[in-house]
Amino acid sequence: MIKFQNVNKYYGDFQALKNINLEIGKGEVVTLIGPSGSGKSTLTRCINGLEAISDGALFVNDINIADPKVDMRQVRQNIGMVFQHFELYPHKTVLENITLAPMKVLGMNEAEAIEDAERRLNNVSMLEHKDKYPSQISGGQKQRVAIARALAMRPSVMLFDEPTSALDPETIGDVLAVIERLGTNQPDLTMVIVTHEMGFAREASDRTIFMAKGEIIEDRPSEEFFLNP
Ligand code: ADP
Ligand code: ADP
Repeated sequence: MIKFQNVNKYYGDFQALKNINLEIGKGEVVTLIGPSGSGKSTLTRCINGLEAISDGALFVNDINIADPKVDMRQVRQNIGMVFQHFELYPHKTVLENITLAPMKVLGMNEAEAIEDAERRLNNVSMLEHKDKYPSQISGGQKQRVAIARALAMRPSVMLFDEPTSALDPETIGDVLAVIERLGTNQPDLTMVIVTHEMGFAREASDRTIFMAKGEIIEDRPSEEFFLNP
């Protein structure tokens, strides 16, 4: 599903990823942990081509996305991404935020898109807020909408880059619960989650990868990882 082969990534002279070899199978839930600046975000952003790798090969659904001939639009359609800072469209309602891309990109008609969006909002306990604008809901609520919006594109991979780092402590749990539930309810969905929430990594992920200075230092089943910290 996702395979890094001898991947290096440079920003100018600075090497942010050092010889990354990593395979993530379909349906796996992987958490990426490690100090700030260790390359977690860079590694994640390489998967959907937001950052280009400098050398090596990176396969996403069997396509080497390092190949310049690859149509990244098509690859990205299969990859949902949720960032630290919610990027909802401010002038669209919660519901419109979700229906927009499925109508435009997947060609759904409006009725279908609304029905699907309402079901997804219900899944993240946000249906009652569907007609509000992003400025009228909390950070945690925005993040749950952002998750529903990414899922509306029916991705096979979901990437989360510190999805709770910018949230008030009291709303973090709701967002983590939504992500944890996704892992259980959509067993075929592959998820990569950058997080500082160790309890979440232990409870909700199959595998935990620890990075430092651009390298993978440890990569183990989460239950094992947290036995010997
Ligand atoms: P993490 O997600 O683990 O905090 P990042 O992947 O964001 O780490 O960053 C890894 C290193 O790469 C850091 O030293 C950071 O300063 C550097 N870096 C990240 N993005 C850029 C960029 N666009 N240009 C230059 N350096 C960058
Ligand atoms: P469009 O041009 O189709 O309206 P956007 O401008 O919203 O799309 O996004 C630009 C590119 O980023 C598109 O190729 C889209 O597939 C991709 N993209 C948008 N949102 C996400 C996301 N949450 N995760 C991954 N890729 C995304």
